[in-house]
Amino acid sequence: MDYFPIFMRLQQQSCLIVGGGEVALRKARLLLTAGARLTVVAPTLAPELAAMVAEEQVAHRCSLFSEDLLPGQRLVIAATHDREVNRQVSLAAQALGIPVNVVDDPELCTYITPAIIDRSPLVIAVSTGGGVPVLARLIRARLESMIPSSFGLLARFATSFRERVKARFVNVDERRIFWESVLEGPLAETVMNGDEEQARQQMEARLAQGIDSNTTGAVYLVGAGPGHPDLLTFRALRLMQQADVVLYDNLVAPALLELVRRDAERIYVGKERANHALPQEDINLLMVRLAGEGKRVLRLKGGDPFMFGRGGEEIATLAQYGIPFEVVPGITSASGAAAYAGIPLTHRDYAQSVTFVTGHKKDGSIQLDWQALTRPAQTVVVYMGIATASELCQAFIQHGKAATTPAAVVQWATTVQQRTVTGTLESLPLLIKEYAISSPALIIVGEVVGLAEQLAWYRRCENTAVKILR
Ligand code: SAH
Repeated sequence: MDYFPIFMRLQQQSCLIVGGGEVALRKARLLLTAGARLTVVAPTLAPELAAMVAEEQVAHRCSLFSEDLLPGQRLVIAATHDREVNRQVSLAAQALGIPVNVVDDPELCTYITPAIIDRSPLVIAVSTGGGVPVLARLIRARLESMIPSSFGLLARFATSFRERVKARFVNVDERRIFWESVLEGPLAETVMNGDEEQARQQMEARLAQGIDSNTTGAVYLVGAGPGHPDLLTFRALRLMQQADVVLYDNLVAPALLELVRRDAERIYVGKERANHALPQEDINLLMVRLAGEGKRVLRLKGGDPFMFGRGGEEIATLAQYGIPFEVVPGITSASGAAAYAGIPLTHRDYAQSVTFVTGHKKDGSIQLDWQALTRPAQTVVVYMGIATASELCQAFIQHGKAATTPAAVVQWATTVQQRTVTGTLESLPLLIKEYAISSPALIIVGEVVGLAEQLAWYRRCENTAVKILR
């Protein structure tokens, strides 16, 4: 190890920055977040630094560096453009045993600053020993995406119970087990959702119960997005990696299931059109039972759970039984399909509104407000409309839309199997047959479809490319 990592307490401590430019400004911001009492020495200041001085966040010495500024400083940063000045600062600080950093000059540094992920009080520092700062920043970016911004809340909450937990569980192993179950369970989610009062009550109950007790689980109704794993939300991914059991159906792409915690139990609950592996009521009750056993149940839904996903019904049952639950939105397939097929759902010239409808038949007929759907200057996206595509397109025409209105179908949007076929209201039903398009696919109707020719960018391979046909 070339550098020994430590975290230094700088609250109310005097620190000195030599230099008044952009780099000095960045360093000043950083030191201020750590509560330092900061002096900047420089003949001139960048405007934002000058503003910080005006607001008395920072003291300013309007002069060149001189050694008499050093005594009493806890930390020194040299950030001038002049290497000779930086060297002088470094040597003088070293002579007094004050830690000194010279920006972009590792040889003159007695300490280096890492890339920081700040979820205070949780702070993660990444260093490559000053050799490849860009790599440290890349690693930081990855960690940033993995560690929810609300972890800071969790760290603060846990810290506030530290002594209580220590007194309650004298045995170190018991303490570890207790903290693991708290930090990975529903209680942690409650904290990170900002409901501190509820979390405190739950924590008191947990402390009273001890570690052997069977705690209540929770259900996470999670939108998995349209299929491409990168289109998951951070929150969805985190809950997927914590789940004890996952309930999924056809719309959840296999690549997404791969991301669920390895040892989680997987339950397929089907749901192809009119061929439900498990009736909706049974799914609802299954979740109640599993959560009642103390499990963290992940109900993974394609797209967004509240968009034609019966998500509302599922959580209504949970609410009825008093099971804690949370809903995580996902990118709905219409957004995914539109983006990946190059069909903007609204457009200043072509569509001032967009309507999402279902083509699914209820009581043997398609019940839609055709008068509204055939008005000009709008886009209509039909979910679950492949089986009824002919009837749908005919109805559009019968109710006054031109047969030449552009229309597209997008199958398995955003995944490697995506297929887009564009045509008109008249030609689309035939094209669907010709290209053997089956569910899951969306139909998009409106002038915006005409833009796909120019804007489609997602062409994975020959046989999945966009077919522009009229
Ligand atoms: N909750 C989902 C929709 C569920 S209804 C969402 O927000 O997207 C099921 C319908 O969604 C399918 O019949 C199909 O029309 C559409 N769908 C879901 N995923 C799709 C995908 N990857 N590509 C195209 N259509 C999709």
